[in-house]
Amino acid sequence: RFEGVTMAPPDPILGVSDAFRADTNDLKLNLGVGAYRTEELQPYVLKVVKKVENLMLEKGDNKEYLPIEGLAAFNKATAELMFGADSPVIREGRVATVQGLSGTGSLRLAAAFIQRYFPDAKALISSPTWGNHKNIFNDARVFFSEYRYYDPKTVGLDFDGMIADIKAAPDGSFVLLHGCAHNPTGIDPTPEQWEKIADVIQEKNHIPFFDVAYQGFASGSLDEDASSVRLFVERGMEILVAQSYSKNLGLYAERIGAINGEKPVEEARTPMYSNPPVHGARIVANVVGDPTLFSEWKEEMQLMAGRIKGVRQKLFDNLSEKDKSGKDWSFILRQIGMFSYTGLNKAQSDNMTNKWHVYMTKDGRISLAGLSLAKCEYLADAIIDSFHN
Ligand code: PMP
Repeated sequence: RFEGVTMAPPDPILGVSDAFRADTNDLKLNLGVGAYRTEELQPYVLKVVKKVENLMLEKGDNKEYLPIEGLAAFNKATAELMFGADSPVIREGRVATVQGLSGTGSLRLAAAFIQRYFPDAKALISSPTWGNHKNIFNDARVFFSEYRYYDPKTVGLDFDGMIADIKAAPDGSFVLLHGCAHNPTGIDPTPEQWEKIADVIQEKNHIPFFDVAYQGFASGSLDEDASSVRLFVERGMEILVAQSYSKNLGLYAERIGAINGEKPVEEARTPMYSNPPVHGARIVANVVGDPTLFSEWKEEMQLMAGRIKGVRQKLFDNLSEKDKSGKDWSFILRQIGMFSYTGLNKAQSDNMTNKWHVYMTKDGRISLAGLSLAKCEYLADAIIDSFHN
């Protein structure tokens, strides 16, 4: 009998898009979902993706089932992209990769793996973090607690709090870390801070569990955005790394990603849905495997990352010019990636939506990828009004 079924938690971000669609005002702006838009605020399919899809069609690839762990050429390409093709873990064949249903599905595979093989282990997540991290661990029945991360006083990293909480966790915990472009804060540790984070994680025998959803999208460089992960790998630590191609290759709905780790991680593959879909995997494998297409991808990624940096700068300029209160807005320029954490509280975020038709999550996060240069001034007016009223 189904009476006892309770409602699943709503997706914290997709609900914002529903409210946006229902708003009929012309000024409306959707800064909720982290999806890249053009300056005209239209969705964007990368040119290199269209090109490679045409090539795939011409070649007449078949639709046979993949192995449960996914497309071999994809798994090889994605691990090399993450760790570097010349990394010892790749050269010595120590890495296992399982193709997953984008970042979320790959995190979910890893959570099931933790629950199955480490039933007593605890996970640690940053406060705040991407809303689905909690949903995923709850769904997989992995116990978790939070470590301090965001300091509202500085709109920066609470580094001492973070280190203290990671130290205080039981030995052998899984510490979830955002590889680059922390969501929702946009605040990343410096390279020196990463070294210290690695020190405590190593001391405590914890297992770093990286979520990398923005490789190449944060700095514009795939290697630079993987540097945090590589630092831990170089120390010979056991590691889990989830990857997503939603943002950097714009493959949101193709659901292509992976979970990587030492060999035993191949046991993360699952009879739940058996083998994963092939289309996105082929796109990634073909783009990364061809030097010309690979460099075309990197160029487009830099264009996207560059456009986001451009609106970040313009928003900052407008806020600084227009806000007569003397508030220091420079934290916006220190943040990295697709998002800006504005520091607006829930009531102020409600004002953004109710009065200004700006749709955003209630934690004060805005997606700069959904903002155009033309809308920066309007957004600055909305933010200033919401802050000071
Ligand atoms: N982790 C984080 C931190 C994210 O921001 C995202 C994208 N919103 C993901 C994982 C995964 O998204 P997807 O399942 O679309 O790859």
